[in-house]
Amino acid sequence: MNKETLISIVIPVYNEEQNLKKVLDGIFYHINNLKDINFEIIVVDDGSIDNTWNIISDYQNRILKGIRFSRNFGKESAIAAGLHYSRGDAVIVIDGDGQHPAELIPEMIKIWREKKVDIVECVKIYRGNEPFFYKIGSIIFYSLLKFSSGLDIKNSSDFKLISKKVVDAYKQFNESLIFYRGIISDIGFTKFQIPFSVKERIADRTKWSFWARVKYAINIATSYSSLPINLITYMGILTLIISIIGIVHTFYKKIEGSAVSGFTTVIILILFLGSLLMISIGIIGIYIAKIFIEVKHRPRYIIKESLNFKKE
Ligand code: UDP
Ligand code: MG
Repeated sequence: MNKETLISIVIPVYNEEQNLKKVLDGIFYHINNLKDINFEIIVVDDGSIDNTWNIISDYQNRILKGIRFSRNFGKESAIAAGLHYSRGDAVIVIDGDGQHPAELIPEMIKIWREKKVDIVECVKIYRGNEPFFYKIGSIIFYSLLKFSSGLDIKNSSDFKLISKKVVDAYKQFNESLIFYRGIISDIGFTKFQIPFSVKERIADRTKWSFWARVKYAINIATSYSSLPINLITYMGILTLIISIIGIVHTFYKKIEGSAVSGFTTVIILILFLGSLLMISIGIIGIYIAKIFIEVKHRPRYIIKESLNFKKE
């Protein structure tokens, strides 16, 4: 008898009481016709403080499994837990807010089986209704990231299918501050891309505040690139050159006898160099803080309860 294929679908959710049921209904609707495949759906409740866990535990379907964190640990941790507990021959990660089209799931599976690739990734051709400022910000950020680290993740999303081999490779990445998209992009293996348009959220707003995005960007930049810390050296060299010109100029004026009492210049220089030093120390601080977090090696998440996982 042929061994049957098992596909795991991992859904990280945080306060998605308004969306989760519709998303699950949509997924079940689209996988229903794939009779030759077994599915497990793992919903990871990332410490929701609304009704999300009840929706998971009340949902009547034996292939639905739930993991509930003790508090909010962030989407990356939820994905990590989902992948860790998945048993599928391939795993698909999909958002729980309806922004990732579940109708692409059968196509992803078909491509994975027919083309025998290890990663089927859905690439954004339309980024959804984001504010203009975010669009520009993300273009600049991802271009700089590509330039400094070679990591090209501009239009990539977490919505992809990865084979068990890739899941096993991902599990070897032990960093506390893990970044799913970055790792999958950097991990090698054969890939196939499907374009898709990001949908509007079914309801509610994104949980990402402006500052959360800035922190996320700093985290990615400092995880994958040493450009920020190298910039300090470049800025130092630049200010040194400017200072030498300034020193020569000042001495010249002094010898010429036309040196003015440069109060304004002094103030400007102190403020300028002061801020430059503060920024430099700050950048070094960010790297040290990351080292600090990594050496502590704390768990990425703590599970409070789970649903439908059999003891093995
Ligand atoms: N999410 C999560 N933990 C968090 C924040 C978000 O598990 O701390 C989930 C969220 O419920 C959704 C997915 O991650 O299913 C994407 O989140 P969101 O829609 O807020 O982000 P965006 O789509 O703007 O990237
Ligand atoms: Mg979303």
